[in-house]
Amino acid sequence: MAQAQKITPRAKDFSEWYGDVIAQAQLADYSPVRGCMVIRPHGYRIWELMQRALDDMFRASGHRNAYFPLFIPMSFLAREAEHVEGFAKEVAVVTHTRLRATGKEGKDAIAVDPTSALEEPLVVRPTSETIIYAMFAKWIQSYRDLPLKLNQWANVVRWELRTRLFLRTTEFLWQEGHTAHTDEADAESEARLILEIYRDFAETWMAMPVITGVKTESEKFAGALRTYAIEALMQDNKALQAGTSHNLGQNFAKAFTVQYQTAAGGLEYVWNTSWGVSTRLIGGLIMTHSDDNGLVAPPKLAPVQVAIVPIWKTDEEKQQVSGVGSQVKTDLEKAGVRVELDLRDTMKPGAKYFEWEGLGVPVRLEIGPRDLASGQVVLARRTGGKAPAPIQSVVGAVTKALDGIQAALFAAARERREQNSIRGATKAQFIEFIKGPGGFAYGGFCGSPSCEAEIKQQTNATIRVLPDPEFRSKEAPRNCIWCGAPSLAEAVWAQAY
Ligand SMILES: [Zn+2]
Repeated sequence: MAQAQKITPRAKDFSEWYGDVIAQAQLADYSPVRGCMVIRPHGYRIWELMQRALDDMFRASGHRNAYFPLFIPMSFLAREAEHVEGFAKEVAVVTHTRLRATGKEGKDAIAVDPTSALEEPLVVRPTSETIIYAMFAKWIQSYRDLPLKLNQWANVVRWELRTRLFLRTTEFLWQEGHTAHTDEADAESEARLILEIYRDFAETWMAMPVITGVKTESEKFAGALRTYAIEALMQDNKALQAGTSHNLGQNFAKAFTVQYQTAAGGLEYVWNTSWGVSTRLIGGLIMTHSDDNGLVAPPKLAPVQVAIVPIWKTDEEKQQVSGVGSQVKTDLEKAGVRVELDLRDTMKPGAKYFEWEGLGVPVRLEIGPRDLASGQVVLARRTGGKAPAPIQSVVGAVTKALDGIQAALFAAARERREQNSIRGATKAQFIEFIKGPGGFAYGGFCGSPSCEAEIKQQTNATIRVLPDPEFRSKEAPRNCIWCGAPSLAEAVWAQAY
């Protein structure tokens, strides 16, 4: 089991803390392949719960799942100019299909068989627009075939030099949605619908507040007309891009000749969207809620929502408390709660508390002989606070606590974000803020790529989004925060993961 290791405090070294939380909660580990991660069962369970919730939302909004190949002909990538430029520096390429024995010893005993070279190299998908739209070209003939709304759950590979578990790894898991529409308005409303699904998921399930908006030209997806994103603020005041939704326009339709016959009999290119969230969300979950004692999992995504820890000294007591514990477990499971009963003889209660705490379990029920005598158990919250609860009504008390924790985590994260956001700053204040405490800085933007680039170069901050109306300041900024020229749009800057 987990060693009682010490977690580096957030205030001391946030990055160390992040790694310690992951190690203690056994979420993931580095693999023998540099840059790749192993997702351990506790971490994978969080991903499965995320998948289930998102998949239900996609399905309810008219999307169906499909699966496309891992390998993409290299020439496909070249067909959309911006797209290839965006991904060229991070693709893995397959050039051969066989190994052969060399007759040598050790690691030289096998080598690539040069006679097995592929006629056309294959890239390992960094994203699947190209292969999917090549298929759409085959499947779409008429306006009656539209809209076509597919999603796939898959792994992708982007060759990263600097990696961090969940946040940036060479291979990661994600979903990628791909749709085709008759016109721009329909594609735009799809891109917006998905952004809203992502916002809803982040806030309702992850208890992670996000701001939504559109990316600038320099930050948009390679090959997109427009990219929308949800952005969250982590506890170290860096932004995390947590999901993106792209209106691809007709760029890929033209590159892959995806055309349809209109009702009037003409021939038109389709409009595409693509959108994705990945295992990066788990990194966001960790950095939004966890504390110096380890993982804090929002109840809706916690692999274990309740840990029951019976306390005993004698065998007779053990029998008594574990009997009640197992009855409570059954009752909670009937109510749909994910629960574990900890009957291990090998650990003291205190060590068990510590372990469940590190695993992020929202609620712990302690059942001791004295509690039983007074007809109650002790309900302890991962986020602080302990109170007795009558055994008679323990299911109600637990579900109420879980709902309360979920709501409180969201409220606390939103309050933290607002406390770490500034509006109406001067250029000097802006620089001081970004280079100092950091957070979301709202300000006017003249629209000039050179201002954007200069800010990035001097402060390391990027425009996260041009925010949607509900996030904009009450009074629209008049001037660019950097050059003072008239502002075209309000922007939100932050340093980002
Ligand atoms: Zn400017």
